[in-house]
Amino acid sequence: MGEKLKTTNKKMILPDRPEGYDTEMNHHHKKYLFVYGPVASRRLKRSLGVDLVPFKTCSYNCVYCQIGKTKKCTLDRMEYMPVQGILEELREKLKSAAPPNYIGLAGSGEPTLHSRIGEIIEGIKALTDIPVAVLTNGSFLWKPEVRAGLAGADLVLPSLDAGSAEVFHCINRPHPDITFDKMVNGLVDFSHAFQGRIHLEVFIVKGINDSVDSVKQIAAITKDMRLDRVDLNTVSRPPAENVTASPFEALESMCTIFPCDTRVIAETHRTMIATHQSASAESDIVALLNRRPCTIEGVAKGLGLHPNEVVKHLDVLHSRGVIRAVRSNEAVFYEGIWTA
Ligand code: SF4
Repeated sequence: MGEKLKTTNKKMILPDRPEGYDTEMNHHHKKYLFVYGPVASRRLKRSLGVDLVPFKTCSYNCVYCQIGKTKKCTLDRMEYMPVQGILEELREKLKSAAPPNYIGLAGSGEPTLHSRIGEIIEGIKALTDIPVAVLTNGSFLWKPEVRAGLAGADLVLPSLDAGSAEVFHCINRPHPDITFDKMVNGLVDFSHAFQGRIHLEVFIVKGINDSVDSVKQIAAITKDMRLDRVDLNTVSRPPAENVTASPFEALESMCTIFPCDTRVIAETHRTMIATHQSASAESDIVALLNRRPCTIEGVAKGLGLHPNEVVKHLDVLHSRGVIRAVRSNEAVFYEGIWTA
């Protein structure tokens, strides 16, 4: 089991810091262990993120993962982060932040690995009316307890990147005990049982699943599902492996293959959204990267930011030409570009 909250006379004491988080007030950023943002994205607009598992704890090791290779590939569902700690932080954050469009359970791994995700969603619902969205890779939807846990969410965004077992293994590199059929059957069953909205994300990688046949196979599965929308995405920042994006126009033409409302949500530089809180974090990141190259995780640890926030800031800085990405020893490092 994961860490339990220590309680003394009903006063809550947060557990020891999860690996990868620096909770010191080493900067002007207020530090939270589990809640981050708000971050701006095309799918959830402005959302407050909640991390339910430690950095890169996932049942997949996708070639396109934007936060790096999976550190712990597992199917073990447990209370990785303490439920009460998450809810306490969220309550505090909601007092100080302008209301976001969503509270997003996403973070830096697979959120349905948290064994008490249903209680977390219920707890959030008791705190606020802000809709709850869950971004999941969809690998556990064959489990009745996971389907029941997600029942209280308003929006679920599962992934489906493959229409065959071969492509599934190539792009998602799942834990060996997750078979393609099990995953797909779970996804289809969930789509009919869930009462909220479902936006399916299909991530297209050039040369892996971008052929018309591959996309048709994925679309054929969506015919059996109840979906509100399909979102097509592609690589927009240095991924875990050296794979490349499908051109925007190719994605647009794929939309017609799907039987329901389908749109391209790939982030391009012109669609990036900067928030007004970004400036100080960005100048800290530039200062750090001008001194030494860092991975996303390194920046996150160094500045006490969440990896998902770091990714958004790096996108903006990269588009402005003040940093660059360098692949080295199988990891992606960012470094500052000094300008006179
Ligand atoms: S993209 Fe999502 S599902 Fe794939 S490895 Fe990264 S965190 Fe896991």
